[in-house]
Amino acid sequence: MAEINIKDMLASYDKKNLTVATVCSHSSLQIFNGARKEGLKTLGIAVGEKKKFYDAFPLGRPDEFLIVDNYKDIAKHSEELREKNVIVIPHGSFVEYLGAENFLKLNLPTFGNRNVLMWESDRNKERKWLEGAGLTMPKEIKDPHDIDNPVIVKYYGAKGGKGFFIAKTYEEFSRRIETNKSFVIQEFVMGTRYYLHYFYSPIQDNAYKLSKGSLQLISMDRRDETTIDEVQRLGSIAELEELGIHPTFVVTGNIPIVIRESLLPRVFEMGEAVIEKSLKLFGGLIGSFCLETVVTEDLEFKVFEISARIVAGTNPYISGSPYSELIQPDMSTGRRIAQEIKYATKQNSLDKILT
Ligand code: AMP
Repeated sequence: MAEINIKDMLASYDKKNLTVATVCSHSSLQIFNGARKEGLKTLGIAVGEKKKFYDAFPLGRPDEFLIVDNYKDIAKHSEELREKNVIVIPHGSFVEYLGAENFLKLNLPTFGNRNVLMWESDRNKERKWLEGAGLTMPKEIKDPHDIDNPVIVKYYGAKGGKGFFIAKTYEEFSRRIETNKSFVIQEFVMGTRYYLHYFYSPIQDNAYKLSKGSLQLISMDRRDETTIDEVQRLGSIAELEELGIHPTFVVTGNIPIVIRESLLPRVFEMGEAVIEKSLKLFGGLIGSFCLETVVTEDLEFKVFEISARIVAGTNPYISGSPYSELIQPDMSTGRRIAQEIKYATKQNSLDKILT
């Protein structure tokens, strides 16, 4: 990562006038709403023009907009943003639109540990991290000739599951694979999906205690993916595949969900292990993260992905979830982030949660 001196940047900040900024997409309504509830100023970054739909949501609208021609131009405005005491809250689309390299170089205080990006975006490193933490991941099939059970084929860097497909045999795989792209073949795990939204604070000890700081479970969701999640309305997958119609995994929305209470101890153990391992590998993940899991009929979790920042699956919970209500009423992940910033400001430890 380029040398960015957060302490120097923060030294010139007016801590009573912090501004939470993010790109106008993904979970921005929730992030702005959460910051507003905590009395922080907000700034939305949009390309081309101010997004009109924000006018329909006064409590989710940022106080001001920065309009850029291209997301990559955000860096050109960094001095102006620093003058507004901006803290950037990255979300999935923020990192994707800006590009990983530009995100790492962005000369602005950013919530979370930016070093996590290389561990999460490289599938081999991600596996080393999660399996190293003792989590079970779906088996990887190195040689497509070995496909003897349903597998899911994922292209690298595919946006929102686009192009992913299921294959049950080598023949099926070779008929569908686009060989010009890099891909990974994973066992297709049968079970029910839970996307678990955690928040790790390295500076507060008031939740599930870890070797340093503490962990909260804020909410969980299930993604709604087209066409796989509704394909049965037209016929069985086998029937449709015979007609050359294949299910896809493109995310279109998120559905609120809760998990059997008896599984909560394991949910926390997994979150704990992921954080403890991250502390050893790269100085620790900070703030929100999500484990994407399938629970099998033996009630075992298989974790197929980690997202190391706020996920859009937290959006159903702008006014709290069945879990966050047990921490504090009306608390979303966006609000929890704003609270962490306020707490760190009071403790003079903003440099412990920003990179
Ligand atoms: P991902 O991009 O890894 O989040 O995968 C996109 C979607 O594919 C997920 O939201 C799941 O619905 C599905 N999926 C991914 N990996 C697996 C797996 N190993 N077994 C079953 N379904 C999976």
